[in-house]
Amino acid sequence: MSEQRFSSYIAGQWVEGDGAHPDENPSDLGTPVGQYGTVDGARTGQAVEAAAAALPAWSLSNPQQRADILDFVGSEILRRKEELGRLLAREEGKTLAESIGEAARAGQIFKFFAGEALRIPGEKLASTRPGVDVEITREPVGTVGIIAPWNFPLAIPAWKIAPALAYGNTVVFKPAEIVPGCAWAIAEILSRAGLPEGVFNMVLGSGKVVGQALVEHPKLDALTFTGSVPTGHALLKQAAARALKVQMEMGGKNPLIVLADADLDKAVECAVNGAFFSTGQRCTASSRLIVENSIYDAFVEKVRARLAKVKVGDPLEQGVDIGPVASQAQLDTDLSYIRAGHEDGGELLAGGDRVEWKTPGHFLAPTLFAAKPSDRIAREEIFGPVAALLRADAYEHALALANDTEYGLCAGICTTSLKHATHFKRNAQAGMVMVNLPTAGVDPHVPFGGRKASSYGPREQGRYAVEFYTTVKTAYTAA
Ligand code: ADP
Repeated sequence: MSEQRFSSYIAGQWVEGDGAHPDENPSDLGTPVGQYGTVDGARTGQAVEAAAAALPAWSLSNPQQRADILDFVGSEILRRKEELGRLLAREEGKTLAESIGEAARAGQIFKFFAGEALRIPGEKLASTRPGVDVEITREPVGTVGIIAPWNFPLAIPAWKIAPALAYGNTVVFKPAEIVPGCAWAIAEILSRAGLPEGVFNMVLGSGKVVGQALVEHPKLDALTFTGSVPTGHALLKQAAARALKVQMEMGGKNPLIVLADADLDKAVECAVNGAFFSTGQRCTASSRLIVENSIYDAFVEKVRARLAKVKVGDPLEQGVDIGPVASQAQLDTDLSYIRAGHEDGGELLAGGDRVEWKTPGHFLAPTLFAAKPSDRIAREEIFGPVAALLRADAYEHALALANDTEYGLCAGICTTSLKHATHFKRNAQAGMVMVNLPTAGVDPHVPFGGRKASSYGPREQGRYAVEFYTTVKTAYTAA
């Protein structure tokens, strides 16, 4: 395969950037997916300037024009989902089936927001004063900075870029360092979609240089970020200091409760899928499995039997269920938590070590520890295929354990009891709740987001995206 070079896209021009950084394939470390150049703070500033210059015309553009452009992008992504999925699988490491599914989702998201461009809501109310009309309209929030993570390198950019453009904003998109190929692929399609110059920009580079230059630029009006809690909270402070509108999606430590009355086979499937598929690299991963005492041993036995059948390897290979960890840095983190699991006295029930494959890569066995609620692996987000198993006396205890976390993204329960399912939906301290489903795996047309340390600001996705990407105007007219 020929080596591709991925570059940035600023003010309608492709910008090579400095250096040739390898875009590594985590399944085959000797064979990079391509090379990419990085831009500096000054170039990032030019991207924000271009977005600001393009804003006045784009914010008043015909919504049909915006709809047509987004529809074009969505159609092309859907048409090329196998090819884009393959790129994603090679670059980030999730299985080909998961990757093609993610590409399709990205296409569907662009199409959803193509429709939303023509449905921007408003209201007209009677005034308290005679002869006066009151209109409430939504206008674009302005130039939007998008800082994205690596774990969904097509879907997350799609669910930020598509609403931003649909509602008339201009964009500077900074992808995560290790997925420049997917970012470039999205930018390349957008560059042919008919957008005026400067409406969409994409800048490749580090968080410290490019991300910081973006956040600090005085012409940036709003920032949407998905990433780790430490980075998110640092950016939140900077944003607050300059009154930047923000939307932050950060970590999770999502509980999945399994009650004694659950369908055990279904619960095991939910647990294994939620905790370990996509290599556990989902902010909604079921990383805390909370199991009722009376079925604990049976659950452990079935999970171990299921994990024995799971194949870890190159995501392009047929029959592989779990791909590699996405990067050396993430692998180091995962291994350090496996050590922490042992140090804190956890009992290793499955995995715990690296897996050999035909090619050199970051392969790690799905790892399950029986843990105490106070153990680090039961409290801190790992973002890898490492999960903690906790015992609960009964439903009330399980609920208390589920809520005993600083996070609040998603919470799940496996049960056949309507009473417990209903109580859990009301009392789980999370932005999303799942009943008889893994905590990971959400629909693209409904709100996504959490509570507590997991999220800050308005929800993403679906019609709720309008809250972040627009600002409200109240207009009074006297006849
Ligand atoms: P991870 O540890 O999983 O890479 P991060 O929160 O560090 O998660 O990264 C998420 C995104 O935030 C990436 O695009 C990264 O480049 C960016 N980022 C990291 N540090 C900063 C920073 N100081 N300022 C702006 N963006 C940053």
